[in-house]
Amino acid sequence: MVRQRILFGEQLGPLFDDGEEQVLLVESLAAFRKRPTHRAKAHLYLSAIRHRAAELGDRAELVRADTFREVLTGRDLVAVDPPSYAARRLVRSVGAEVLPSRGFVTGEQDFASWVAGRSDRGLVMDTFYRWVREREDILMTAAGKPVGGRFSYDADNRQPPPKSARLDLPEPWWPEEDEIDATVRADLDAWERDGTVHFIGDDGPRRFAATHQEAGRALEHFVRHRLPAFGPVEDATLSADWTMAHSLLSVPMNLGLLDPRDAVRAALAASADGSAPLNSVEGFVRQIIGWRDWMWHLYWHLGERYVHRNALDARRRVPDAFWELDAGAIEANCLSSVVAGVREHGWAHHIQRLMVLGNFALEHGWSPAETSEWFTGAFVDGTPWVMPTNVVGMSLHADGGVVATKPYASGGAYIDRMTDYCGGCRFDPKVRVGENACPFTAGYWAFLAEHRETLSANPRMAQPLAGLNRLRDLDAVIEQEAHRTRW
Ligand code: FAD
Ligand code: SF4
Repeated sequence: MVRQRILFGEQLGPLFDDGEEQVLLVESLAAFRKRPTHRAKAHLYLSAIRHRAAELGDRAELVRADTFREVLTGRDLVAVDPPSYAARRLVRSVGAEVLPSRGFVTGEQDFASWVAGRSDRGLVMDTFYRWVREREDILMTAAGKPVGGRFSYDADNRQPPPKSARLDLPEPWWPEEDEIDATVRADLDAWERDGTVHFIGDDGPRRFAATHQEAGRALEHFVRHRLPAFGPVEDATLSADWTMAHSLLSVPMNLGLLDPRDAVRAALAASADGSAPLNSVEGFVRQIIGWRDWMWHLYWHLGERYVHRNALDARRRVPDAFWELDAGAIEANCLSSVVAGVREHGWAHHIQRLMVLGNFALEHGWSPAETSEWFTGAFVDGTPWVMPTNVVGMSLHADGGVVATKPYASGGAYIDRMTDYCGGCRFDPKVRVGENACPFTAGYWAFLAEHRETLSANPRMAQPLAGLNRLRDLDAVIEQEAHRTRW
């Protein structure tokens, strides 16, 4: 029997292949049926798998099947430990040799030694980030101090958006589709026609890298043209500028096409040659060696049941308008614009995910597990490892404060300051009762009132709860939000 290296859909770059064995690639249709999946995501995965098979030529066997298990059973396999609990169980159950995982700046063993002896309260991203900076000698001086004197330039990176409709930057790098994309599109059309699978969202021009080479071009273009602006407007949003200065590199990183260490190295080189300012470089590096690695390690550390945590007992279903990405059914300009963007691209930037979608889900009591499923299906970069901590922890505070020390809830005033959505909205961010009451402003107060008792144990919530006590129309807000049908 020929020994093969199985490459999963998140392992499609050279980092996951040591060139020693034949390679097995699998197109699994069951993966698209687990939950409503964005068609652009299905396109991207299939395109990347087929491009990898074409690159590897005779070394690769590409199999299309319903499930991975039916292909993997009975083979002599070696696997880099895959990035989900289900895939890890699978490779072990078919007797594959398992190598340590790859694709992050720090290894699982490194994290295990860092976390040993820490309680949940000691799990602080910033502490981990500083440790990685020192350990990997990233943005550190010869004297062991952070370059520029500070570990974080977050305080410089909170500017509101400029008055213009768009940032004054060149377009991001876009790939050119080829005949592989054409065959993928034809297959997706055929499967939709015969009812094999049902997708959500548009399958417009492919926007993300499908090969290692394309990922390299995307990185180079970002570092040269957009990284300098990344920091200052990192938290801001313009409705006519769907990418802002973000890198869009989560997608090739999560497919294994781009080594995050290469992304960090490229940003550091831009800092060294003076082409990007320190606040942008540090901000970007922190996203990768801090947040990305952190979320990866927490996925394993917090366990498979983490996604079912529900500390605020949130039980509302994710509304159909979101499952169907039907922006037309949503009146709130911020929500409708973001959902339209997700429909078009299968992607939204971090602030749209956190401040608009996550914030709304939190204030309106969406079930954490279902919300995590929704994000995983609707976003091209959604993977089982990345979603639980970002959705259940960071956005919905359903883990009781492990990932975020306080709920990321905000009213319309904050959205109005950091975006240009409110000017074009039928609701008014300053109004909390009546026809024009903003669902975020009223939702914020109703959320605080509902969870007043639980949140009062958190010292960081003392100020917002004191504000709640001063609201004279609180009963009317609560009553209105309990019956809200328009948002
Ligand atoms: P940039 O703003 O350019 O940041 C650079 C890189 O940092 C990203 O490419 C990403 O790899 C990494 N990064 C930054 N923050 C995080 C984070 N919190 N978790 C993991 N990586 C991070 N990230 C995903 O990779 N896939 C997802 O499906 C995903 N869903 C999210 C859902 C919610 C509700 C929230 C709040 C965050 C989510 N994130 C997700 C994290 C973050 O929003 C995306 O990584 C980022 O928006 C991707 O765009 P970008 O590549 O342009 O990022
Ligand atoms: Fe969103 Fe409220 Fe602003 Fe409308 S007024 S865009 S609902 S924050």
